[in-house]
Amino acid sequence: MHDLCKNLRVSPEGRLLFHERDLKELAETYGTPLYLFDEDRIREMCRLYRSAMQEAFGEDALPLYASKAASFTHMYRIMKEEGMGCDVVSRGEIATAKNAGFDLSRAFYHSNNKTDEDIAFALQCGVGCFVADNEEEVRAVSRIAASFGKKARLLLRITPGIDPHTYEEVATGKVDSKFGSAIETGQAMEICRLALSVPAVSLEGFHCHVGSQVFDADVFCRSVDVMVDFLAEVKRELGFEASVLDLGGGWGVRYVHSDPVYDLRACILTVGETFRRAVARCGIKAPRILMEPGRSIVADAGLTLYTVGTVKRIPGYKNYVSVNGGMADNPRFALYGSAYTVCLPEKMAEEAQDTYSVVGCCCESGDIIQENVALPASVTRGDLLAVLTTGAYNYSMASHYNRIPKPPVVMLSGEGERIAVRRETAEDMFRYDE
Ligand SMILES: *Cc1c(COP(=O)(O)O)cnc(C)c1O
Repeated sequence: MHDLCKNLRVSPEGRLLFHERDLKELAETYGTPLYLFDEDRIREMCRLYRSAMQEAFGEDALPLYASKAASFTHMYRIMKEEGMGCDVVSRGEIATAKNAGFDLSRAFYHSNNKTDEDIAFALQCGVGCFVADNEEEVRAVSRIAASFGKKARLLLRITPGIDPHTYEEVATGKVDSKFGSAIETGQAMEICRLALSVPAVSLEGFHCHVGSQVFDADVFCRSVDVMVDFLAEVKRELGFEASVLDLGGGWGVRYVHSDPVYDLRACILTVGETFRRAVARCGIKAPRILMEPGRSIVADAGLTLYTVGTVKRIPGYKNYVSVNGGMADNPRFALYGSAYTVCLPEKMAEEAQDTYSVVGCCCESGDIIQENVALPASVTRGDLLAVLTTGAYNYSMASHYNRIPKPPVVMLSGEGERIAVRRETAEDMFRYDE
């Protein structure tokens, strides 16, 4: 399990090290539950995306960090320092990026339903580009931008009609998706016509996002082909030449051993070859390429630590290990049945011969972190338990269900460690109660 990511290693004494740090010491310093992030890994992934994309698509290519994967002030500082752009999807994310001093002209504002207040807020903050999902939104952005005497840069979210062969819940590029306008139904061309006709937007190009947990270049190559064909069609029909093509996010991450190993850089270069061929075939000017990786930037940079409480064995049925967190800090198993690797960091040398359901402390039978987890038979109250690869969509999806305060976020780096988000207290739970 320690080869899921190179920031994991088992010491000769049988202890799991994360970023070369002993997890027990960190648990003693910060308490559990605890979100840990390997900041160096996040930076490494940002650099990998920037250099691979520049090599594949040219100097002006830019990765945008899809900040919904993990959004807090220090994360935007990292993105600023690494020269990344950002995707934001709400006023909260925009405000947090602003709080970090992130240059909002490099922010792209998504979401399938932006209210007038959202649009006005984004314009006031100087958000660089809107990604419009539908016709109503194009009209609203133009109307509100005009009232500010501004012109809003715009991309249109297009549904290329590709089934990424992943999970239904995260398949967003199909024609019947709640997101975007489909090429197949003619609505994509219609929204483009509209965007070119309203006064206060400047249409720059198109966006698509096909799916999640994609482990090979094929899905992206297919969407490049479909999107470049669409760009050519738009040029023929409307005389508009797009200067930006945003290919979305979705590159995969290994949560468990059975997830495939793939070479991200090589995949991006393959997408680059497909892109150059498609552009040559269609005779269009090569647009600037953007991608929006979220999960693959932060997921394996994260790890959650818990303390084991009740261990319950129901002979002939099932074994349970309960931890002092659960669906409130990691709702992904409850939502999608997501796979995770779970282990006892201080007992890595012991054989894991029994299987357990690892469950949380919420009053909800669906409060499960993972089923069928092999753990040592000695597992007992007070043991440290780690869930690996929790950097994406854990902190950002955390809730206060059962009025459980959110765990802190601690960042580890070569320069030391810092608390990026402090631990919430019981008092924080009624802070807004009147
Ligand atoms: C969620 C999302 C992303 C990021 O997806 P990952 O799977 O985390 O890389 C990028 N773009 C859009 C529009 C999204 O909705």
